[in-house]
Amino acid sequence: MCIFCKIIEKEIPSTILYEDDKVIAFKDVNPVAPVHFLVVPKQHIASLAEVEDADEGILGHILNVCSKVAKTFPECENGYRVINNCGENAGQTVHHIHFHVIGGVNMGEKLI
Ligand code: 5GP
Ligand code: ZN
Repeated sequence: MCIFCKIIEKEIPSTILYEDDKVIAFKDVNPVAPVHFLVVPKQHIASLAEVEDADEGILGHILNVCSKVAKTFPECENGYRVINNCGENAGQTVHHIHFHVIGGVNMGEKLI
């Protein structure tokens, strides 16, 4: 079982910020910003590259949950960034699709 599936099953502890039958949001163990949490589907999908047409609904739900949880942090009032690392060239280290939400800092420098 992958590390995020273990978090979903509560075999590994995490600070859970939101959970429903389809997704879970929890704090990143190694935050890169004052706010840094991950939104993860309970269904094991390895990466964005493995998404199928039937997964469109869950992808929309994930972004909605990113927005809802970000609203609970005053640090995100002036904006935040949502990031998905897909595959080797993007540096994906956990092969269970996840969306990073980072905020609470002015990210000034932009790649795109
Ligand atoms: P990636 O590099 O795959 O986009 O991001 C994986 C993220 O998962 C990293 O930011 C890393 O800190 C986080 N992470 C890895 N293992 C754990 C864990 O056991 N618990 C939590 N909360 N985050 C984790
Ligand atoms: Zn998994």
